[in-house]
Amino acid sequence: MINDVLREAAERFGTPVYVYDLAELRRSAKDLRSQLPDSAGLYYSLKANPHPSVVTALREAGCRAEVSSPEELSVALEAGHRPQEILYTGPGKSLAELTEALAHGAVSFSCESATELRRLGRAAAARRTRAQVLLRLQPPTGSQAALSMGDGRQFGFTPEDALHACADVPDNLDLRGFHVYLGSQLPDRAALVEAFATAKDTVEEVSRATGVPLDVVDLGGGFPWPYATAGTGAELADLRPELEKLLSTWNAGASPQVFFESGRRLAASAGHLLTTVLDVKRRPGGVVVVLDAGINVLGGMSGLGRVLRPATGFLNLSADDDREPVTADVVGPLCTPLDRLSVRASLQQPREGDLLCVPNVGAYGLTASLTRFLSRPAVTEAFYDGNQFIHASRQVLTTEKVVPTAR
Ligand SMILES: *Cc1c(COP(=O)(O)O)cnc(C)c1O
Repeated sequence: MINDVLREAAERFGTPVYVYDLAELRRSAKDLRSQLPDSAGLYYSLKANPHPSVVTALREAGCRAEVSSPEELSVALEAGHRPQEILYTGPGKSLAELTEALAHGAVSFSCESATELRRLGRAAAARRTRAQVLLRLQPPTGSQAALSMGDGRQFGFTPEDALHACADVPDNLDLRGFHVYLGSQLPDRAALVEAFATAKDTVEEVSRATGVPLDVVDLGGGFPWPYATAGTGAELADLRPELEKLLSTWNAGASPQVFFESGRRLAASAGHLLTTVLDVKRRPGGVVVVLDAGINVLGGMSGLGRVLRPATGFLNLSADDDREPVTADVVGPLCTPLDRLSVRASLQQPREGDLLCVPNVGAYGLTASLTRFLSRPAVTEAFYDGNQFIHASRQVLTTEKVVPTAR
């Protein structure tokens, strides 16, 4: 996005503010689609950014919805997704959640265990309906991708689990195929191709052993994009012919409908966060820059020292090029030493009132933040399309009364 538009957003909406460029969202969707075989479908993982405007734009760009909670399902439906095309995933789906999803017309579930198959069977029986199931398989241990999901033990079936579970599947479930999610941020095209080949081998092996058909296969994702720092993801040119080759042969003449999934590659580049410098402290150990956005607005997961290191990259939209670079810790306004967005970062000497911009936060920005922590107001999310701001919104966080069930 051009800097003048970003400055205009800060002026008109105040800071902190997320600015999303819908044209960029459509461009990134078109770009990723063009790297995948025409016959393959692409799921957008709402986890990355569940804002209804993002979900709608990506549906219009040809993505299906992969959801993992009741709220994500309702956003997908409101955004116009057909319920029978939504894939419901996640390692812990309760009976109430499954029943509600079926009531909304969702029929496809990625199932993670024998227990969950029984539970989905009960939910479908209660709704007098059938459900379509993909068995989620653990990536083989030791694969590069498995590392980026921790050790991956909390997800899916091992081949042995799958074999046992298939001996006793509720008869209102149709086993259609498999889902393997290898992990996030695979570094490049070669790593992606290798990961999808590994996923395909795993799926074929378990299909052979269990007799589960290969009607539908979700090979996962891992398409890379930088997080909260400038830059672009690895070039994926020539991914498509390699995937076409990979998908041209399947066990026993099967020809599954194949899907891929992405969150960040679709949504990250469309989002910018604008934040204002509230204070600059010169300390013996180095400069400390205090912003009006902290881990309540961006990167809460890194603030907790989990998943990501705090390494946010800032562009100073107020500074000319001639300001000296300084090494600084950049922190937010929250009353906790965990509220750090960047540690020992190099940036142009900031001053009180400067407007800073964090690029590539369209994915895992606000939604992955500790929005409730320290009870600060929610941040505005503004949408830009063509040459104007088309709307802006702010989440409302409320507390409601809970009445216990009668004893
Ligand atoms: C998180 C997740 C994704 C999206 O990952 P990105 O790195 O944002 O592309 C896709 N599929 C599953 C099952 C996930 O858990």
